[in-house]
Amino acid sequence: MSDTATTAAGLESNPFVQMQRRFELASSLLALDPGLAKVLETPAQEISTSVPVQMDNGSMRLFTGYRVQHSIARGPAKGGIRYSPDVTLDEVRALAAWMTWKCAVVNVPFGGGKGGIICNPRRMSQHELERMTRRYASNLLDLIGPERDVPAPDMNTNEQVMAWFMDTYSMHTRATNTAIVTGKPIGLGGSQGRLEATGLGVALTTRESLKHLGLPSSGARVVVQGAGNVGGLGALFLHEMGHKVVAISDIFGAIHNAEGLDMPALLDYLKEKGTLEKFHGAEAIANSELLTLDCDVLVPAATENQINSANAPDIKAKVIVEGANGPTTADADRILTEKGVFVAPDILANAGGVTVSYFEWVQNRMGYFWDKEDVFRRMETIMVKAFDDIVAAAQTHDTTPRIGAYCVAIDRVAYCLQMRGLYA
Ligand code: NAD
Repeated sequence: MSDTATTAAGLESNPFVQMQRRFELASSLLALDPGLAKVLETPAQEISTSVPVQMDNGSMRLFTGYRVQHSIARGPAKGGIRYSPDVTLDEVRALAAWMTWKCAVVNVPFGGGKGGIICNPRRMSQHELERMTRRYASNLLDLIGPERDVPAPDMNTNEQVMAWFMDTYSMHTRATNTAIVTGKPIGLGGSQGRLEATGLGVALTTRESLKHLGLPSSGARVVVQGAGNVGGLGALFLHEMGHKVVAISDIFGAIHNAEGLDMPALLDYLKEKGTLEKFHGAEAIANSELLTLDCDVLVPAATENQINSANAPDIKAKVIVEGANGPTTADADRILTEKGVFVAPDILANAGGVTVSYFEWVQNRMGYFWDKEDVFRRMETIMVKAFDDIVAAAQTHDTTPRIGAYCVAIDRVAYCLQMRGLYA
């Protein structure tokens, strides 16, 4: 633990500690050798890098960036890059580890990595963001590569950032190298369906969860935290499946309509106005009320630690489908289990994104272009199989779907590590 207090509250809000707590539960169910467990749990490599940037007003500013490769046992490290003032090394470590487990849950041949820069992209111009991205990319040149470490977008990074990253790498390697990142613009080697993939995966996981629990396949009252790529598009797919999205939020506030929100109109409104505020036919509510609203399905799709020991006792949803990474703390897990809430864990529920990132990488390397239907069909097959695998593991080990998912993932990574052996 590097930069977080060791108080109970500090530990609960430290994502890497939260990852470790789940890892330890699963590794004891699997009766893992302690030495092997230590290797699996600990990041393989991590760097902290200074990113000096000339700002538009001529001044020089220094940003701190990180890249963590948690595991390369199953393939190149894979994982996004986050731009946020809240980035910490422990957050990046946790996100990298979750990528390892996620890629193993959906059985794509990647390890796990993650990167981040401590910055406030809302206060930076496009030129400043471009210079920061290019410097960060060039600082990572010895670490990354299509066979080594393949970044992607995460919070506050997008296809433009990926295009700059890809161009910087390509200028150094003297060849256009599209497979260095995923989440690129489609005209530049991006995959059809990548934009929608995580939201669609959340909707498919909701469908499978409701089916598994014997609940109706439409008409569920859904609450979504976060109206970005995952939350906004996840809500749209759930709306299209015949569910009622009764509330949604962004970082500035939340809106509610018990009769259901018109999601296509809401997303158009958000795109045009940049806010949910004053959307017709909905009342404003506080963000703090959102997670404990009366509903059937809750989709936290914003950020970490949102469902914690303080609010978990008041959660009313029967099903939680985790669109965000790490939205629920380990203490909250215990409370939700006692309440009988079914939690479809992040490393399954938001894995649609990395699954289509894998398709993007495959298409780039082979020179293929698959159409959207083909991408979605392949993704659905993988997501449904992963759901069935984790439910089966949860039954075998008499545990929750989350720990079942960790068991499936750890088992697959441990197998690769043991088959490869240790190079000494
Ligand atoms: P995004 O930047 O597109 O959207 C984030 C949304 O959450 C925005 O609406 C923002 O206003 C809102 N938000 C942030 N903090 C909030 C808070 N405290 N309360 C309420 N709303 C808040 O990001 P995204 O790509 O949708 O990612 C969201 C989460 O999903 C992150 O945890 C990310 O790591 C995870 N994720 C994303 C993908 C992907 O493909 N985009 C894949 C897997 C996991």
